[in-house]
Amino acid sequence: QLPAIEGHVRLDHVVFEYEKNRPALKGIDLEVKAGQSVALVGHTGSGKSTIINLICRFYDPVQGAVRIDGEDLRNVTLQSLREQVGIVLQDTFIFSGSIRDNIRFGRLDATDEEIELAARAVHAHEFIMSLPQGYDTEVQERGNLLSMGQRQLISFARALLADPKILILDEATASIDTETELKIQDALKTLLKGRTSFIVAHRLSTIRNSDVIVVLDHGVIVEQGNHAGL
Ligand code: ATP
Ligand code: MG
Repeated sequence: QLPAIEGHVRLDHVVFEYEKNRPALKGIDLEVKAGQSVALVGHTGSGKSTIINLICRFYDPVQGAVRIDGEDLRNVTLQSLREQVGIVLQDTFIFSGSIRDNIRFGRLDATDEEIELAARAVHAHEFIMSLPQGYDTEVQERGNLLSMGQRQLISFARALLADPKILILDEATASIDTETELKIQDALKTLLKGRTSFIVAHRLSTIRNSDVIVVLDHGVIVEQGNHAGL
């Protein structure tokens, strides 16, 4: 069981391999204070997603440990971890249903007011109101009613409403128009406030706004610092 957490995350000499003797992470040491935002950058195959997979405990390390508030994740139930660690994936997850249900998702107790508040905070309210039935507009999983940028804002509203202490975000690479881009940047700031975050960052603006930038190469941290320092 993981009690209400602060959001301090530590990787202690983490080694991981998907296949025997082909390490994807070769001894990662990383300490992240509660509330800090971490940008993970590096070439394809460098280990960014693997770090995220381990923090979400989709896998356990082969050697070393991942700790949240000092607790080894091996000793934590998946359910309590899911309650405290939120994930926004690159291929934003929209299911068939109303916009309202898509934002509400796991928070079945959320009121319409809370849903609208979350949507407003990430600049999604305006475009939602421009849809035929507003928050009651039905969307399809693969429907093209929503642009990539709009899908992203919906997933931000959902994450804000879920309010996890630790947020994992695999930033979308899709190109979006400048206006939406600015909205997303601002929404991201709101979303990250007061939580620890790990972002697989593709945008320079995101990297610039992160507290810690971690540069990976072949499963090793080759550089670490802030934007001014690197
Ligand atoms: P990208 O920018 O392409 O998403 P990444 O930095 O996220 O890359 P990882 O997905 O963490 O890279 O991959 C790290 C290494 O682990 C790579 O060598 C990759 O081939 C390997 N790998 C990743 N996922 C698997 C898997 N499911 N099975 C086997 N090997 C994998
Ligand atoms: Mg990846």
